[in-house]
Amino acid sequence: MKNHMKIEFSSISQNESLARVAVASFISPLNPTVDELTDIKTVVSEAVTNAIIHGYEENAEEKVILECSIDQSQIEIIIEDFGKGIEDIEVAREPLYTSKPEWERSGMGFTIMENFMDQVDIQSKENKGTRITLSK
Ligand code: ATP
Ligand code: MG
Repeated sequence: MKNHMKIEFSSISQNESLARVAVASFISPLNPTVDELTDIKTVVSEAVTNAIIHGYEENAEEKVILECSIDQSQIEIIIEDFGKGIEDIEVAREPLYTSKPEWERSGMGFTIMENFMDQVDIQSKENKGTRITLSK
């Protein structure tokens, strides 16, 4: 079975749960286990939080795009923002690296995404935005 969805929402933290629930509902035909669902919801949360707090620095006027595709048992999730961009992607991927230690971030978002998914692709340009593609 092939299916695809795309939603756009305001860059506000309440929408993290919308994104989690939307993806969980969308992939339910694949009959994921509770653990698999928890992992997927966690990675969606991490990437959406990053778009909101790092990409847009919590500017609620901005928009985040979430796309999800399933093909047989393969899942692909794309989270995109048009904000600040990542200066150095290799550094950003390192465990414990955060550009906002004063905000009590722990720098584990990308590490969690990489642990829970098979592939994490990061495309980013300064002041153009960031597109994260997560596949499993
Ligand atoms: P945590 O996720 O543990 O709360 P964190 O968000 O700082 O902390 P990561 O999610 O691993 O850690 O992200 C690492 C760094 O990559 C961030 O501190 C930020 O500098 C940069 N980054 C991540 N996503 C984006 C984004 N969408 N736009 C701009 N910068 C980003
Ligand atoms: Mg993060």
